[in-house]
Amino acid sequence: MTITDYPTFSESPFFFDRKAPSLPEEEEGLMRPHNAPRVAYYHPKDVGNYHYGERHPMRPHRMELTNQLVLGYNLHEKMTMHSPRKATETELLEFHDNDYVDFLKRVTPKNAQNLTKDWTKFNVGDDCPIFHDLFSFCQQYAGASLAAARKLSSNSTDIAINWSGGLHHAKKGEASGFCYVNDIVLAILELLRHQPRVLYIDIDIHHGDGVQEAFYLSNRVLTVSFHKYSADFFPGTGNLSEIGSDLGKYFSLNVPLQDGIDDESYISLFKSIMEPTITTFQPSSIVLQCGADSLGCDRLGTFNLSIAAHGECVRFIKSFNLPLLILGGGGYRQSSVARCWTYETGICLGLKLNNSLPENCNYKEFFGPDYLLHPPLTGKIQNLNSKKNLEKIRIIIKEKLRYLNGAPSVQLQEIPNDLMGFLNVEEKSINEKFDGDDDENLKDQRIANSKSKLNENDLLEKELNSFGNGDSLGQPLGGARRKTVRI
Ligand SMILES: [Zn+2]
Repeated sequence: MTITDYPTFSESPFFFDRKAPSLPEEEEGLMRPHNAPRVAYYHPKDVGNYHYGERHPMRPHRMELTNQLVLGYNLHEKMTMHSPRKATETELLEFHDNDYVDFLKRVTPKNAQNLTKDWTKFNVGDDCPIFHDLFSFCQQYAGASLAAARKLSSNSTDIAINWSGGLHHAKKGEASGFCYVNDIVLAILELLRHQPRVLYIDIDIHHGDGVQEAFYLSNRVLTVSFHKYSADFFPGTGNLSEIGSDLGKYFSLNVPLQDGIDDESYISLFKSIMEPTITTFQPSSIVLQCGADSLGCDRLGTFNLSIAAHGECVRFIKSFNLPLLILGGGGYRQSSVARCWTYETGICLGLKLNNSLPENCNYKEFFGPDYLLHPPLTGKIQNLNSKKNLEKIRIIIKEKLRYLNGAPSVQLQEIPNDLMGFLNVEEKSINEKFDGDDDENLKDQRIANSKSKLNENDLLEKELNSFGNGDSLGQPLGGARRKTVRI
């Protein structure tokens, strides 16, 4: 085991889109540097023992695999380990509706048939089945995220990790996309008790709709989601036009991507968006949802990301040295999920892990035939993200960031109420900008150039929003049912 992170992602030998992987030299017996962050790791002890059902893609057992690999690499010796208590009902009610929590508490596979009238109301069924001890499962993963948030708020750790959390689709009053209780919203609410602004970043392949929806009207939480966006891909939301509203206008950012994005394109887009977002918003802490279904060869996902590239997002966000809550999320090839989240635990600790998996590790049979932390990525999907479109997305997001222009508690420029107003203000400021120009022809020409630039950005956005479904506005699903936390 060696000590330092790779200084830049391009130096990692495991970016399969750059070159063939080469094995790092193993260096044993080195200590972590003195300035290494304090890391707290939360693992509810039974969380891996629940079953969604025989044919359901979500396998909580992946958490046990991850935990065993973390232990196999002896990472528990470098961080504090916590087996947190379950979240209480009162804690769940901080976000969720009373009748929904009551339903989750009461429903069992045995009595489920008697409660069918509630199935539609609370959106349980195929995606979100009723399984044995469901409520206890929710309390476990939510309790871990809450404990992790409290630890960060009390400044007793720099980074807190809960791989069993990150269930980003759950809504205030209903289940969605394998998620029942939204531990992320609960954790952010906990952080907001002590901190003015929280940045939420989501690298799951699915749009982080539940978290975005909860804070859609708030300027204290900025949500940024990188995801696949198309009409036939769950949850069908997350286009560029979803920017938040009311006080929260411009505080939701969405990066809609297409199948097959590769390491290089994803990382360069991620960094070029997150760097200005962090410097502009100036968050007090960051919550990073690390859904592993964005990895190549996932059973539900269709990106081509290597574990190294996924981890590079974690390393990059960690480099800002802000209090950081790391959560899990999707991920439907158990061995890849465990490898990825173990690798990312190592990144949090500033450790480089040996590519050969540890000799003494429970469940090692899951990692054959290569028994490597970074197995070669096979079965890539065609990359449908053109460089041109990715550049357009980057430009449009940077343009949106201009309207944040400083953190709310610092001094925000006045933000117009609607998009038309905002474009009118743009137009007015362009005219004012050139008012001192002596040469009338030159002035007219410059104004015309600037206005056409504005129109160009507007058109770019419309074009990009129509990816996949021809819907240029694409309001979030369930708009009429949306229940939002106002903070
Ligand atoms: Zn997902």
